Amino acid sequence: MTQLSPSHPRYRSLRVRAGLAAALGKGLIVPEGLIAQGRGETFDYFLGERTIPSARRAERVAAAWIRAARHPVLSVNGNVAALAAAEIARLVRAYPPLGVEINLFHRSPARVRVVARTLRSAGIRRPYGLRPTGRIAGLDSDRARVDRRGIGSADLCLIPLEDGDRAEALRGAGRRIVSIDLNPLSRTSRAAHLPIVDELTRALTEIARALEGPARPSPRGPSARALLSDAQATMARNLLRVPRPVPRGTPRRPR
Ligand code: ATP
Repeated sequence: MTQLSPSHPRYRSLRVRAGLAAALGKGLIVPEGLIAQGRGETFDYFLGERTIPSARRAERVAAAWIRAARHPVLSVNGNVAALAAAEIARLVRAYPPLGVEINLFHRSPARVRVVARTLRSAGIRRPYGLRPTGRIAGLDSDRARVDRRGIGSADLCLIPLEDGDRAEALRGAGRRIVSIDLNPLSRTSRAAHLPIVDELTRALTEIARALEGPARPSPRGPSARALLSDAQATMARNLLRVPRPVPRGTPRRPR
């Protein structure tokens, strides 16, 4: 693998890309997962690669909703396992009743095993979804398959990097939906009761931090609509900001 220098201005992003390329080699993610990552990176660039204040508020509300839920379940696909196994483990340590279910768009028994192994080696002992036993209405094929003990009986689903159809079907099936998706325009973000527009590892860390602290009365969060418009407005402002000219190599005006 190419040596990456921590002094490179895009070191973090390069490291994540190298990690995903390795995950592709192990069969943890599929090539389409690289495209999803690229889309996410673009929106994060627009956002300023930081957690905006409204997303931070949404993350605190998400922690309170998880605590208040009867059976909260986090849905994990290949990209989520590859990017954030350690953060998921921290979240589960902070709140052990939170279930974790493997849900793959491109499902094969071998891939499910690789995802389960990745989660287990991070410390998540008993993920759901190894042998799905139920279905979500309104979806075709494998995407409908869920574990009856997990998402099948959940009242709250935390769905990072989800496919829009599935997010809509889960909402239609009566689940309370908290999404994590950098794209405020995606159908997933639009389907969520609480859309968190933030990068996956930043969002999970912030939710875990809130769950590690004392329980507080559920804060009144901004509406889903307000969260999405704030993220869009932030991106629009960043896009319209005129960048300072790069000083290096600028030719001098002739005297
Ligand atoms: P829709 O929800 O509109 O159906 P989609 O299913 O077509 O969208 P995908 O590209 O399949 O979208 O899903 C990936 C989504 O996850 C994208 O919206 C992308 O912005 C987002 N995403 C990718 N990587 C990250 C990340 N690291 N953190 C947060 N969001 C991410």
